[in-house]
Amino acid sequence: MRVSDDRYTRDRQRLDLALRLIRHEARTFTIRQWTGLSDDRIRKLYRSYVMTHDARSVSRHRGKSPRQAAFFFRNSELNFQSAQLASLYVMYGLLRGTHARIEPHYRIGSLESGALLCQAYEAYLELHAPASISFEHAWFLLLALARRDEVGISRCDVCGGVWLRDLLARHKLACGTCAAAGSAPAAARGHVISTSAPC
Ligand SMILES: [Zn+2]
Repeated sequence: MRVSDDRYTRDRQRLDLALRLIRHEARTFTIRQWTGLSDDRIRKLYRSYVMTHDARSVSRHRGKSPRQAAFFFRNSELNFQSAQLASLYVMYGLLRGTHARIEPHYRIGSLESGALLCQAYEAYLELHAPASISFEHAWFLLLALARRDEVGISRCDVCGGVWLRDLLARHKLACGTCAAAGSAPAAARGHVISTSAPC
């Protein structure tokens, strides 16, 4: 009985996570990655979700997942929101860092990691309305940060805030806001959201 109870609980968690991902308009591929459900099962879940909710409130994305890290540096607002999201990944334990480097601390396909990713993204949505970063871009940001080849997080030398760093750009020591405003202490301008992110 105990084994079947556990299995039932895991199934329930799997479906809950899939529905949460559908609400965030994640792609079928992403939902399959995190829940292990078949495409057919995901399609049925999506249909039942649309039948019980406003179909306009959620849309399905097809095609390729985001792959361009340049998206996070497109403008200062996106860069700022991306840095906050990166800080949330550290706070929710999906990334762990030392002064030297950031290490991934999640496992793709783990229901626990998937739930943490949703929690971090939902916290980001609470901070930003309208949000500029879709769930798929948020998931790509986590992957890119874990890969450490294009995107990193650093502490700004001027204001001390956490900023998202383009690892392909040379000699940049300040966040976008401080770089744009010269070298005046940014804390005085009040744009920094302090986090305990260890980077
Ligand atoms: Zn700064």
